[in-house]
Amino acid sequence: MSDAPTLGDRLVAELFARVEGRLKIGGLDVADLAETHGTPLFAYDAGLMRRAYHALAGAVSGFAEVDYSVKANPEPSVIRVFAAEGAGAEIASGAEFAAARAAGIAPRRILFAGPGKSDADIDHVVAQGIGEIHLENVEEMMRVDAAARRHGRVQAVAIRVNPGPDAQGGAMRMGGKPSPFGFDEEDLDAVVDAVGARPGLHLAGLHLFAGTQGLSATTLLGQWAYGLRLAARVAGRIGRPLATVDLGGGLGIPYFPGETALDLAALRAGIPALKAFVEADPGLAGARIVLEPGRYLVGTAGLYVARVRAVKPSRGSRFVITDGGMHHHLAASGNLGQVVKRDYPVVAVVDPPGPRFPCAVVGPLCTPLDMLARAASLPELAAGDLVAVLQSGAYGLTASPSRFLGHPPPVELLVDAGRVRQVGKPD
Ligand SMILES: *Cc1c(COP(=O)(O)O)cnc(C)c1O
Repeated sequence: MSDAPTLGDRLVAELFARVEGRLKIGGLDVADLAETHGTPLFAYDAGLMRRAYHALAGAVSGFAEVDYSVKANPEPSVIRVFAAEGAGAEIASGAEFAAARAAGIAPRRILFAGPGKSDADIDHVVAQGIGEIHLENVEEMMRVDAAARRHGRVQAVAIRVNPGPDAQGGAMRMGGKPSPFGFDEEDLDAVVDAVGARPGLHLAGLHLFAGTQGLSATTLLGQWAYGLRLAARVAGRIGRPLATVDLGGGLGIPYFPGETALDLAALRAGIPALKAFVEADPGLAGARIVLEPGRYLVGTAGLYVARVRAVKPSRGSRFVITDGGMHHHLAASGNLGQVVKRDYPVVAVVDPPGPRFPCAVVGPLCTPLDMLARAASLPELAAGDLVAVLQSGAYGLTASPSRFLGHPPPVELLVDAGRVRQVGKPD
């Protein structure tokens, strides 16, 4: 029964607001949204997306452009928010290509990564025209070459690199592991030569994405410096400048107690050195440097709101049973690749003053995996009350087994400038 502010309290104060205990998003009352639109629901705040985009773009300005990795949240209205701010897109399927195009992103501002691209998707994006296709293996190199030649085109491509054992990102070793993504750095020279020998391909860039959920500016800067050095080496080998260097996404947001937000001032402070390196290298001086984050841009902007169906004591523990769960928000349940299951910040939508109690927040599915929080600290709740999972804008619904147990899909809302719009597709 501690009243110390939690990560959830801090995030509410920083990103949302409470007025007389009632949680707001973009100025709108979350309980009212739940009443009007039903639960469970995701609500995304366009203002917070723009804020994240401009904070990051500002920190790296003059060095890199910031594009949006569509897989973090492919809801078309979300892509449109970033498109309107000038972002390009990183996509990983033909459907994401269509979504990015529908959001108004020009084909040349779209790049296509992913380890198992289908022939149909390759053929489609080559025919439509796309900025770059990122090659991740030998078969893909041959298939993109064949598609380009079929269409009488020369397709711009980048080589995605899986960094080698000596790669350091800040103080952290980042490479040397086997990976389905990209070519091993040890083979880079041979791959560069092989791509150069294919008449349907134009080697335009290098792509290095070292890992997701990075919260250390030093580590990210180290990874980016490593990527630039590799790119300079590739430009040297082909004897002409590169058009692009894609340094990946992977910028993190705090989810768990003890985590703090990425220090953008520290990131900004490291940019002049990277810029100087680029400007001093003839192979990079004219290159477009690209970042393609997903989580960082949209993660903080989303809430997942569920309604309490029952509060059940069991052998000294308290279970808050809600209508929302892992079928909409697998990541919050700790089952989306987390090694250690820790709780996303969960808060009460209406939070009266008074004591809080330790409780578990669970969903309606018949599996012990369906747990949104194991050790939340929430006020006295009863059936009909609402809880909100914060940091739910990225890898939420899109990364969840929404057909599991046949519950209906959640509502998705886009909040922008005091207005709300229902988005998302009916299932
Ligand atoms: C998933 C992915 C991203 C986005 O990663 P975040 O951790 O959300 O920033 C960027 N680039 C590629 C190639 C990806 O696969």
